[in-house]
Amino acid sequence: MRLQHFIDGRSIPSVSGRWLDVHEPASGRVLGGVAAGDRTDIDAAVAAAVRAAPAWSALRNSERARWLERLADAIEQRAEAFAQAESRDAGKPIRLTRTIEIPRAIANLRFFAHAATQFASESHHGEAGLNYTLRQPLGVVAAISPWNLPLYLLTWKIAPALAAGNTVVAKPSEVTPWSAALLGEAAAAVGLPAGVLNLVHGTGLEAGEPLVAHADVRAVSFTGSTPVGRRIASLAAPALRKVSLELGGKNATIVFADSPWRDHLDTLVRSAFQNSGQICLCGSRLLVERTIHDQFRDAFVERVRALRIGDPIDEDTDIGPLVSQAHFEKVMAAIHRAREEGGTVLCGGRALDRPGWFVEPAVIEGLGPDCASNREEIFGPVVTLQSFTNEAQALSLANTGDYGLAASVWTRDLGRAHRLAATLRVGMVWINTWMQRDLRTPFGGTGQSGLGREGGLEAMRFFTEPKNVGLCLENCE
Ligand code: NAD
Repeated sequence: MRLQHFIDGRSIPSVSGRWLDVHEPASGRVLGGVAAGDRTDIDAAVAAAVRAAPAWSALRNSERARWLERLADAIEQRAEAFAQAESRDAGKPIRLTRTIEIPRAIANLRFFAHAATQFASESHHGEAGLNYTLRQPLGVVAAISPWNLPLYLLTWKIAPALAAGNTVVAKPSEVTPWSAALLGEAAAAVGLPAGVLNLVHGTGLEAGEPLVAHADVRAVSFTGSTPVGRRIASLAAPALRKVSLELGGKNATIVFADSPWRDHLDTLVRSAFQNSGQICLCGSRLLVERTIHDQFRDAFVERVRALRIGDPIDEDTDIGPLVSQAHFEKVMAAIHRAREEGGTVLCGGRALDRPGWFVEPAVIEGLGPDCASNREEIFGPVVTLQSFTNEAQALSLANTGDYGLAASVWTRDLGRAHRLAATLRVGMVWINTWMQRDLRTPFGGTGQSGLGREGGLEAMRFFTEPKNVGLCLENCE
């Protein structure tokens, strides 16, 4: 398997002729290679996007919407191939890619196709003549995405950028490039005009940095880790380039005694361990009211022990491997550190004795809010358990730390739920549910979890430049 760039409407290898290995996490074996892009390939992709920009931005919104719909149709026709690709190169349970992640990627394209036709700007009248605001495309924009939801997060950026009239150079994660390569093939199959969407593979240093720093790139939409987000902000700052940064998290799941938690155990377990905990929205800190702590702990651990770990391509698998050797080592080191910090591992936490990067889901108790295990993102199948005695303490524990992405609150007391929703220092709160998505809502975090919001109008605004036009109606001097 040789996965190529998609530049100027064609699938091509790197100018340098170099390739990076692509691994299968379930076996640790090399599946094939992906083109190792660098500055030369980025320059070619940005030049193609610059050439394509005038005609693309001049299309009617409804025409751009039709292109997005065609791309969505093309993915839908090949949905099984996309699902298999992500299950193989990301190690995701096939049930997840088939029923959630690839369908959501398709939904992203369809949603922003509609957004293109519904997006409107403001006008202001009655104070100083008549003002109206144009919302114009920026030109060429960059999209850089991580490995944990490969096609889902890539389309979450590409779709609004194209809908708003920009042309795109995207750099998918080098760890999971397969579905992005299939996306390039789908774009070619529907005849998307050359240069409108370009995909350059490669590492962050060799392909990502030249893209962020390229003089013709007007905005950078990035999802990934907080340290890389900081680096991207520093590269984009000298040119005052717009950036949207969706970064790491250390989310709290707050369970009160009055909640019907037993009825929601499956969702609570999923919120900690879906995709082996490799979702930025996973709740990695379980905060449980003291009066139910022991019963909750026992029931939760029993349910976690019942999760089926295995080959991701098997329909019955709940938990697949971690995405890479490097990530496996990072997660195992974090579990070791939790033990050294005094934590008790109630279940899991061991590597499976088989090829591939499998780690049994771990539940750890006995760690205070300030230890590294409760402050640093692990991004794996590891959840810690702490208890609280009242609402104020729950809030204080939840708000400990530098991240501020998401939280979920489980209670029957609606007053308490809304009080907490207003005071939790995060960008997204779920009440008695988890990861319920409405694509119109603002998506993103605060503090070290990022800058800016994606989703709905927020994304359409990010990918356009407002220009106000004021005109005199009478007696304006
Ligand atoms: P990462 O930051 O290592 O890489 C993300 C992307 O950035 C990859 O495509 C990578 O090649 C590229 N990159 C790396 N260094 C770069 C550089 N110097 N310049 C330009 N590009 C560079 O993240 P990852 O390990 O792929 O993903 C996991 C992280 O993503 C976790 O921290 C997770 O919380 C975060 N994440 C956040 C969200 C969110 O919406 N907030 C969603 C998913 C994942």
